[in-house]
Amino acid sequence: MIVLKLGGSVLTNKNSSRAEINESNLSRLSCEISRFLDNNDEDLVIVHGVGSFGHPLAKEYEIGESFKDSEYLYKQIGFVRIENEVKKLNFLVCEELINEGIPVIAVPASTIFTASNKRISQANLDKFKQYLERGYVPIIYGDVVLDDELEMAVISGDQIIQYLAINLNADEVILGTDVDGVYNKNPKVYENAYLYERFSSLDDLDVFEDNINVDVTGGMVGKIRELLYLADFGINSIIVNANIENNVYKALKQEKVTGTIISKEELNEI
Ligand code: ADP
Repeated sequence: MIVLKLGGSVLTNKNSSRAEINESNLSRLSCEISRFLDNNDEDLVIVHGVGSFGHPLAKEYEIGESFKDSEYLYKQIGFVRIENEVKKLNFLVCEELINEGIPVIAVPASTIFTASNKRISQANLDKFKQYLERGYVPIIYGDVVLDDELEMAVISGDQIIQYLAINLNADEVILGTDVDGVYNKNPKVYENAYLYERFSSLDDLDVFEDNINVDVTGGMVGKIRELLYLADFGINSIIVNANIENNVYKALKQEKVTGTIISKEELNEI
């Protein structure tokens, strides 16, 4: 089984405060996935990020922060507004994938997961398994979920891939994002950043820049943490640039592609 993640940076215009979809990327990637499925009968799960559809509202309503009892309804409205917004993006993604003949079916995280202090703590994966057994392609996305400790939390697509890859015994995990893979420091900030072909420890990041990365983009360090956790379980993953045509297709086909493999195995074992 393959878990494929399409990053919010690829499907949306992440820098915009308005919810904006990147239609050309979505239609190209839908074709690439469809082309792969035409000749392969592997099980596939798609996870997508939500970028500009989720992040601004999550920030505005401070979901995951503590709040007073009197603010409960306000927070609930924030929760459902975010849920509705990310669902809109998912609707558009599903529509495009279905038009390409892919039997995708949304299984929203808000309905199957509960978190405890922002980490998935309970899940009902029955629907995932049923749909997979019958040849559907379940699709899930970064979402809001009920949280036992914080009442509500935001769960990233990256946390979802980690959880699903372990609990559904994935053979392969592919992440499509907007850079070529993991660099020693943020390539969008530092021109002299270099790309790792293989990555096995956060120590490989430039420690000083690491802090900057967390503050400036949040993205990559959080991603790497989830993937290193998977690597501990022997599940390798690859990060590729999904803005480049055919990269996702090649990764699905297990063809050689520029990217970073996250693995803790010795090189000759891969
Ligand atoms: P996505 O929305 O695709 O999941 P994110 O925006 O969350 O992706 O994370 C990808 C971003 O992480 C890149 O655009 C890049 O600017 C940033 N980044 C920060 N540090 C690094 C690093 N060391 N290597 C690669 N990318 C990094």
